[in-house]
Amino acid sequence: MDEESLHERLYGKKPEEVKYGEPCPLCGSRIDEFGMCACDSE
Ligand SMILES: [Zn+2]
Repeated sequence: MDEESLHERLYGKKPEEVKYGEPCPLCGSRIDEFGMCACDSE
C-alpha cells in the first residue's frame, strides 16, 4: 500500500484534501494544527 492510500484509509481523504486551516500567507503551505508554519521558525 502506498503512502497516499494509507493516508486515505486513516483519514478518509487524500493528503491534499486534509486542511488544518488557513494556508500560510507567506509560503502558501498549510499551517499545522498548532498554527505554526515551517517558514516562520527561522
Ligand atoms: Zn509559511
